[in-house]
Amino acid sequence: MKSWAGSIASLQQGTRVVPPLSLFNTASDSIETVEKKALYRLYVCGITPYDATHLGHASTYVAFDLINRYLRFTGASVRFVENITDIDDPLLERAQRDQVDWQDLAHSQIELFRGDMVALRVLPPDHYIGVVEAMDQIISSILALQSKGSLYSVDDDLYFRVRLDPDFLTRSHISLETALSFFSERGGDPNREGKEDPLDALVWRAQREGEPGWPSPFGIGRPGWHIECSAIALHFLNPESHDEFAIDIQGGGSDLIFPHHDMSAAQGVIATGQKFARFFVHAGMIGLDGQKMSKSLGNLLFVSRLIDGGVDPMAIRIALMGHHYRSDHMWGASEIDQATALVDRLRLNLSRVEVAPTSSVIELVVAALSQDLDTPRALAALKAWCDGCDAGYVGGSPGELSRVLDDLLGLAF
Ligand code: ZN
Repeated sequence: MKSWAGSIASLQQGTRVVPPLSLFNTASDSIETVEKKALYRLYVCGITPYDATHLGHASTYVAFDLINRYLRFTGASVRFVENITDIDDPLLERAQRDQVDWQDLAHSQIELFRGDMVALRVLPPDHYIGVVEAMDQIISSILALQSKGSLYSVDDDLYFRVRLDPDFLTRSHISLETALSFFSERGGDPNREGKEDPLDALVWRAQREGEPGWPSPFGIGRPGWHIECSAIALHFLNPESHDEFAIDIQGGGSDLIFPHHDMSAAQGVIATGQKFARFFVHAGMIGLDGQKMSKSLGNLLFVSRLIDGGVDPMAIRIALMGHHYRSDHMWGASEIDQATALVDRLRLNLSRVEVAPTSSVIELVVAALSQDLDTPRALAALKAWCDGCDAGYVGGSPGELSRVLDDLLGLAF
């Protein structure tokens, strides 16, 4: 699948000491330092393309973009893979509801998503992979699971025994009762008759009438949600088999912690014999009008509509960075106005010849980001720098600060 345009402007790391990045790891339930490496493997779960990018999506992808940028800023390379769940129950249901072809719906929404990512200056993945185009790799992963004796049939469908992974459920820190309830709410089928364990994960669904299907050694059908991501991550991130962990960071919204990430990881562990991800990193949810922003509630704020309405994409990015990526956040109507005011101040000050000292503000921004992406603190430092410029302080280099804002925060004016 075609990715989108974007690149890091320049790397500044040779000129200053960059502290290591620390991140909250859901699996260990604590903030940990990311070990220094020459190459990081980053996998971020992508959209199901049936509704364009809303602010909740944008917030998640901006958070992982900041991680990607910081790791590159340390001088490392980042291999970044993102998927698109371009065949899934919600996509088929929406296409049927709207009487449109599911592929046309997917293509139109993927195109909108790409445009939004470019506007928000989210660095593109090295591999942007749709499930349909990765069918061969997904089938190979299912065969690998089958060869380990980890699958069984219920009617013509195939299930994975999640308990074979001794770490199953330890990454999510939830009770069995909560797991069953999340599984049921988030696409699972705990009550299906014939399953050995209610939490076992569907890996291949035999074709039903009126649904698309792909040929496989297990019959015509389509893959389950969790195996798609573990297969795409393991194939396209190309792990080193001697490493303890297959990949460095598995990311997504906090609604993916369970079942999606726990089950994907369990399948990866059994398929490869290697632990799945060193870090599980999750972004909080964005709400609107007192409720979680969701398709079913119909309270989505779309990035493309904000931009079409004249909002500067950099103001959207700054507004999203105005709260910590892990915290759930209720979106306020004034946030775009406040962010636009900061965009205007930064644009004005960065265009001046004489500006307040920049080395110290760069240090503050780098330090804030290094500590579990403390973007509110980074933005506060930038506001204070603008105050300094307004007060007539001099001695800084606007070009140097511009490059750092571009590289690290993805802000260009
Ligand atoms: Zn995923």
